[in-house]
Amino acid sequence: MPPEAFRTAGRSNAACRVETFYLAHRKGRSVFSAAVQRTSSPLFIAKIASGLVIDHLTPGTGVELLRVLHRQPELSDIPMTLGVGYPSTRMGRKDLLKIQCDALPPRLMPLLSLLSPGATVKRIRDYVTQDRVVVTAPDLLEHVARCPNPVCITNAEPGLETRFRRLPGDGPARYRCHYCERIALLSELTPAAGA
Ligand SMILES: [Zn+2]
Repeated sequence: MPPEAFRTAGRSNAACRVETFYLAHRKGRSVFSAAVQRTSSPLFIAKIASGLVIDHLTPGTGVELLRVLHRQPELSDIPMTLGVGYPSTRMGRKDLLKIQCDALPPRLMPLLSLLSPGATVKRIRDYVTQDRVVVTAPDLLEHVARCPNPVCITNAEPGLETRFRRLPGDGPARYRCHYCERIALLSELTPAAGA
């Protein structure tokens, strides 16, 4: 069925040029839109007046973090904006997530450590950064990571909550499973099913 309306809107500045096409099908009540970037200049996510900016996420972890946040009842009505594969001078590429709430539930911070140690969390109020923290590897991971040992009892009994304690020492963070004593790098641990 041919579209009933077709409209083209353009916007350009020195940094980038983006044209957005809207193709609306009124009878089908569906709207298709696509943004086409005409140069290699980066696009930027709009600033938020107040909320949290989780920046320098390891590429690929933004989607997973968004999926986890959406499952949290207290965040179900909170607007969020995800950026994937943005250029980063420090990381090459990065993901970032903007969340229009004052704070994350404390239980999610270890999960953020698991997904992307080294990420930064900025708290914004009235467009001004109030504080900034760097996510570090915690001493204890409870209920958030899955044991990589396939015969660990925590994998046989899904209701059993996992627990990993960080081993002392420099270098990449290593953790020992409380149940089977398997030692794994933080980068080898994955979120538990219920995290
Ligand atoms: Zn284990």
